Amino acid sequence: MSVTGLPSVERTVASLSRFPGIGRKSAQRMVQFLLKKGGAEITNLIGALEQLRDRVCLCERCFNLAEDRLCWICSSTKRNHQLLCVLEEPSDLLAMERAGLFTGVYHVLGGRLSPLDGVGPGELHIAALEARLRNGTIQELIIATNPTVEGEVTGQYLAALATPFVSHITRLAYGLPMGGELEYLDESTLYQALAGRRDFNGPLAHTAD
Ligand SMILES: [Zn+2]
Repeated sequence: MSVTGLPSVERTVASLSRFPGIGRKSAQRMVQFLLKKGGAEITNLIGALEQLRDRVCLCERCFNLAEDRLCWICSSTKRNHQLLCVLEEPSDLLAMERAGLFTGVYHVLGGRLSPLDGVGPGELHIAALEARLRNGTIQELIIATNPTVEGEVTGQYLAALATPFVSHITRLAYGLPMGGELEYLDESTLYQALAGRRDFNGPLAHTAD
């Protein structure tokens, strides 16, 4: 079945082609699939997208994705709220959760410092992080920015910011290639990076817990 050329098909193909990793051919296949499945499948997709648009927001405490004021982690009584892991994006948080070792809570920056792109501290959720650190309940801050140059600079900035408020500042023990992204690590590598986390300013020091 060839579906190219129809304006309504073209519009959908053009929309889908904007997704990361989806080229025009894949978008055409998706449209063909939807047309073949019929109205119910399309209605289901529209409903899912409407819920996504209307319900998903950022957690007002940690800036993870949420459907309520607080995300499922911030509102959990089973998490250790004195152990705080700061990372760049919600996708990094999901990678940490998949690794399954971390029992604390998170703070999502919403990116990394990148002066050349105009991303300074004011563009990230850093003031909110400072407010969380200031109230003195955080016993350990784990800096889990990505092992890229910008992630490293961001980590250094956060360590300096946190030093007056938190006695124990650690970072993931990357046995990772520089330039890697948390999101794409396999679970056991990330598990090891967290288990072997070390003091931020003492590269050889190994945390006991
Ligand atoms: Zn949260």
